[in-house]
Amino acid sequence: MTATAAPASAPFRFFDVRVARIRRLGPSMVRITFTGDRLDDLASGGRDQRFKLFLPQPHQSAPVFEDLGEGWYTAWRAQDPAERPVMRSYTIREQRPDPAEFDVDFALHGAGGPGPAGGGPASRWAVRARPGDRLTVLAPAVADNGGVDFRPPPGTDWILLTGDETALPAIAGILAWLSPGTTTKVWIETGHAADRQPLPTFADAEVHWLVRDPAAGRGEPVLDALRAADLPGGAPYAWIAGEAGTVKAVRRHLVGERGFDRRAVKFTGYWRRGATEEDLLAELTATAGGR
Ligand SMILES: Cc1cc2nc3c(=O)[nH]c(=O)nc-3n(C[C@H](O)[C@H](O)[C@H](O)COP(=O)(O)OP(=O)(O)OC[C@H]3O[C@@H](n4cnc5c(N)ncnc54)[C@H](O)[C@@H]3O)c2cc1C
Repeated sequence: MTATAAPASAPFRFFDVRVARIRRLGPSMVRITFTGDRLDDLASGGRDQRFKLFLPQPHQSAPVFEDLGEGWYTAWRAQDPAERPVMRSYTIREQRPDPAEFDVDFALHGAGGPGPAGGGPASRWAVRARPGDRLTVLAPAVADNGGVDFRPPPGTDWILLTGDETALPAIAGILAWLSPGTTTKVWIETGHAADRQPLPTFADAEVHWLVRDPAAGRGEPVLDALRAADLPGGAPYAWIAGEAGTVKAVRRHLVGERGFDRRAVKFTGYWRRGATEEDLLAELTATAGGR
């Protein structure tokens, strides 16, 4: 495949990338650093910058597209699902200019574990990734782009962040971006105590790490901790991400029981228990078609 078919002014463009380095961050996460010939043109907006990752099928050495122009999405959807690249949403954890590269932290959700083949295509790919492996990404070419959701309005007095491993890269990016002294309360749910990682910030941040208890089945550690928490006064801005059911429950608690202004709560389901990203995309497409 050749890179970059969209016009240079488009906020998002295709980039061919390859794996430069791999580092295990803990039992549930692996950091993959990507490099590529045109990465000087990639411009992350920081915070929770989202982008699309395209993985080759297991029998391919690089993603195979039929069209990378403006009609790429229609062409991609029309491609044979066994041949077309697998599309997934991820966060740019950090971008560095020299050498041009960026990190993506993958939650493994069972892939590579002792049980039978856990995880989905993306987490399985991340577990097996080797330097030189090739991918395509649809990533921002301008820093001020629609793939950044964390945008506290003027007048915000304090910030609340919650998420699981999948939201941890975004939470890290948000904490790195916040102004010095910003009052910030953070709740992060992980599978293991060893998944904790340093979260450098100038904000006045209080970070609560919550470890899921396998014996508690489908417990809701973030919701339980929030219910018990003393929250600051003043105007909050909340950013919630992670499993869709948990996100919904946390939002309901903040708006319904804590009286947060619903416009000051940015919430995004990053994944849904029992559903692949294809399932979620199919639902979205059906909803859009039904309107
Ligand atoms: C805007 C956005 C940003 C995101 N950023 C990141 C990121 O930086 N890092 C990251 O790791 N993820 C991130 N995610 C979540 C990631 O896209 C999903 O976890 C995705 O489903 C992984 O793809 P997969 O191929 O491994 O699994 P899929 O094929 O999509 O799903 C296979 C099965 O695994 C389950 N599953 C999916 N994710 C998890 C999980 N975390 N824990 C347990 N079970 C799971 C599904 O419910 C399904 O049953 C982001 C999602 C969005 C929308």
